[in-house]
Amino acid sequence: MDKKELIEEDLKYIWRPFTQMKSLEEDINKPILIKRGKGIYLEDADGKKYIDAVSSWWVNTLGHSNKRINKAIAKQTKQIEHVIFAGFTHKPVIEFSKKLVKLMNNKLTKVFFSDNGSTAVEVALKMAYQYQVLKGKPEKRKFIALKNSYHGDTLGAVSVGGIDMYHKLYKPLLFEIRQAESPYCYRCPMGCTKENCDCECLQSVENILKEEAQNTAGIIIEPLVQAAGGMIMYPPKYITKLRSLCDKYNILLIDDEVAMGFYRTGKLFAYEHANIVPDIVCAAKGITAGYMPLSVTVTSEEIFNAFYDDDKDGYKTFYHGHSYTAYPLALSVALENLKILEEMDIEKYLQPKIKKFEQELQIFKNHKNVGDIRQTGMICAIELVKDKNTKEPFSYEEGIGKKIYLEGLKLGAILRPMWNCIYFITPYIIKEKEIEKLVKIAYTALNKVLPNEE
Ligand SMILES: *Cc1c(COP(=O)(O)O)cnc(C)c1O
Repeated sequence: MDKKELIEEDLKYIWRPFTQMKSLEEDINKPILIKRGKGIYLEDADGKKYIDAVSSWWVNTLGHSNKRINKAIAKQTKQIEHVIFAGFTHKPVIEFSKKLVKLMNNKLTKVFFSDNGSTAVEVALKMAYQYQVLKGKPEKRKFIALKNSYHGDTLGAVSVGGIDMYHKLYKPLLFEIRQAESPYCYRCPMGCTKENCDCECLQSVENILKEEAQNTAGIIIEPLVQAAGGMIMYPPKYITKLRSLCDKYNILLIDDEVAMGFYRTGKLFAYEHANIVPDIVCAAKGITAGYMPLSVTVTSEEIFNAFYDDDKDGYKTFYHGHSYTAYPLALSVALENLKILEEMDIEKYLQPKIKKFEQELQIFKNHKNVGDIRQTGMICAIELVKDKNTKEPFSYEEGIGKKIYLEGLKLGAILRPMWNCIYFITPYIIKEKEIEKLVKIAYTALNKVLPNEE
């Protein structure tokens, strides 16, 4: 079958994620057939190469077709590809868990496995609620979440979501939450600037807690970056102060590190920047370097112990699991990934790349439609506005991000936009020269769509 026939069959049989299927009638919206990947590049069926500037949905960290990872998969297939995780175990899951807990400085010590970010969040929410019940506080059943938050697409995760276009329609199906302000520094809900900010927006969390702490199980956040909400970034001190609030009002801090975990911010987990420890940590995307679906929900002895009991009536058990819980193939990759990152001395390795992005991003400064340039570790975002002074956003219908994306494709980079942001979340192995190239492509694409003239 040639390329054209394959795409036709794709459209005939497949319902795509986050896609208005009718839009695929237009040629420019048709999916691109990818033949192979190597390092930071993806190659399509015509041999055209693209820089994978979105790390294939923020999962890839070591580049495509990493030899050691591929070898680890092949090796594991010769041992055991999958085994039921009730009553049985295997070496990769034990070694990985031990290594992870050690990397977390033994602060959180119990690792629960599932197979995607959304379910890692579901697990955290169920665990948090059941913990409160087991502590004799069944009335603590509400959660607090932030505006603009994204925690996945399953119903529990959607309940704590805060992006109207994705979440609003499902409201009748969801559980009740309280929503606090988003720490959107560029558009501060409190009217502060980065210079004079003291995390005043946390007041909205405390206001809720004053009313409802006795009915609240926990608060869930995306640490440092509300990624799917528009690459909204905020300072670590917000998380430090939030930890104190959680202690003061006796609720759990659930830290959704699905996008930020595994060194995306420069550290294993983003919470480390805030010098605190959450009660529950969810992680997924980078956990297998982008090679296998896997996720974890990691928690404390304190929470674990609340479930630990002779349990004659069976109500203290955590009834949750998936067919692919602790999937050995995925665990063998996750373990190899940790070994590779350790050998790379990943925190040090990332520093010059983070610096390089910072320098290169300056090129956007003088563009008339660039409202904000922001960066947290290996995540860079450029928020586009109609007017720099008023910060008036482009409307959804204008499709600015989409137009820049299409220009980017022509120039050889995947710049899938996030609302009105151009962003870079590249594999960690990107070279400094390639950072220059990528930023130049983005700048050229931007100027094609929004020429920088008076
Ligand atoms: C992507 C993401 C999720 C959902 O993960 P999936 O693996 O896509 O289900 C949850 N939380 C955050 C912060 C994410 O970025």
